[in-house]
Amino acid sequence: MRLAVIGAGMAGILSAIKLDEAGLTDFTVYEKADRLGGTWRENTYPGLACDVPSHLYSYSFALTPEWSHRFSPGAEIYGYFERVAREHDVVKYMRFGEEVTACEFTGGRWQIETASGHHDEVDVVIAATGVLHHPRYPDIEGLDSFGGACFHSARWDHGVEIDGKRIGIIGTGSTAVQIVGEVTERVRHLTLFQRTAQWIMPQENPAYTDEEKASFREEPRHLTTLHSNLAEAFGIFANAVVDSSSPEIKMIEDACLANLEDNVRDPELRERLRPTYRAACKRLIISPNFYDAIQQPNAEVVTEHIERVEPAGVRTSDGRLHELDVLVLATGFKANAFMRPMRITGRSGRTLDEAWTPRPIAYLSISVPDFPNFFMLNGPNGPVGNFSLIEVAELQFAYISRLIDRIRAGDCREISASADATETLEAERTKAAEKTVWVTGCKSWYLDDRGIPAVWPWPFERFRTEMREPKLEHFEQR
Ligand code: NAP
Repeated sequence: MRLAVIGAGMAGILSAIKLDEAGLTDFTVYEKADRLGGTWRENTYPGLACDVPSHLYSYSFALTPEWSHRFSPGAEIYGYFERVAREHDVVKYMRFGEEVTACEFTGGRWQIETASGHHDEVDVVIAATGVLHHPRYPDIEGLDSFGGACFHSARWDHGVEIDGKRIGIIGTGSTAVQIVGEVTERVRHLTLFQRTAQWIMPQENPAYTDEEKASFREEPRHLTTLHSNLAEAFGIFANAVVDSSSPEIKMIEDACLANLEDNVRDPELRERLRPTYRAACKRLIISPNFYDAIQQPNAEVVTEHIERVEPAGVRTSDGRLHELDVLVLATGFKANAFMRPMRITGRSGRTLDEAWTPRPIAYLSISVPDFPNFFMLNGPNGPVGNFSLIEVAELQFAYISRLIDRIRAGDCREISASADATETLEAERTKAAEKTVWVTGCKSWYLDDRGIPAVWPWPFERFRTEMREPKLEHFEQR
């Protein structure tokens, strides 16, 4: 059996390690960039960290005593993935600078084409292409006319000096909040252009002491216990957001409200920073330092609507020109693109673009009807939110490997979710989404074109249960 994995980020590295362990060594990981790391390669903005605790945001089979902080910085996370890939000797499977442009199912196998003209023929494709991958640029008049440096947060230009400069940041999502927390003390003036205020969950970020690290090294079971305790704690959050009337969501709301009331001193600023929707409706932001940073004398929150960008800065609806040297677009990602614009053609000649019009659909976020032996990690409508996508990918990989085993054992040659099972689950999912906090009156990247959350609307435990064993009656096998 020959396989292709697309993407050498967190999920692609995981796939390579697990395939190798299973003795399925005839595979290539195609990576369009020149090195591995996925989102941790692409995002390098100042303040980058993961707001999932590091001991949870780790592969369960590669826990490490060395994390520096409860929420370690991005460069350290990148280093972790690089080291795990190297130590498991899977870099040899990776072809860098090789962008997959098309996958077509013909003659019972997938034909893979890359931008360089390379061709491959495989039995199974695993798309490990990530969730928030394609930057969303705002449609603001005059953006191109800006005279200073302007870039998206996921394309941070490290050649641009920000120390002592006037910096503008558009957006108030997790990214912008992390940037503000880091750069305010370095810049001359920081202007945060806020369209929508955000709830901020306070969270300390202590460093691990040498004693703690030594204890993890000496007693690896402490690491395993910590990993599972954190997974359990995050399970509480995952359960809270899918039930907007739960006591846990009330606790989150209370903590965010107290953070705002207690830590923003100026009543006028406090009102501008006060959201008008429920906490966790948008993806909850966790920050140890945002309110401190934004109250510094050189920081300013601008809530007037952005009228246009001019060579000297940003003009807002009150007529004021905010003069800037650097403009950062922390404006998020096209969350429903997934592996597109890759052209993927299934068994019936239908493309994934057609199958995903008007919106992406997949069985358990893993398989699409009539796209046999094509599996996704962290595909559409899965559990994304404030918890570890690594655990999600590990559970999904274990599930996918059971399907691959069927092909390997000769039980079938082609397997994909049935259209019936996919539609039934999707109807149930859409209904369940009505109870979640994501539909309580805000806009966010969770919502699809109908305003329905394109995410897992049930407790995380249900996901774990579903992932335990494929229900083969929900698959079409040939
Ligand atoms: P985001 O949450 O989608 O936020 C985008 C921001 O840009 C919003 O504040 C949005 O305003 C604003 N915006 C977009 N277009 C605009 C326009 N034309 N004019 C003015 N404002 C505009 O993006 P993100 O902060 O990059 O985060 C995306 C996701 O990445 C997060 O939700 C999270 O899942 C993940 N992430 C995770 C971490 C982590 O630590 N784990 C860190 C960073 C990001 P509105 O709110 O009004 O739409």
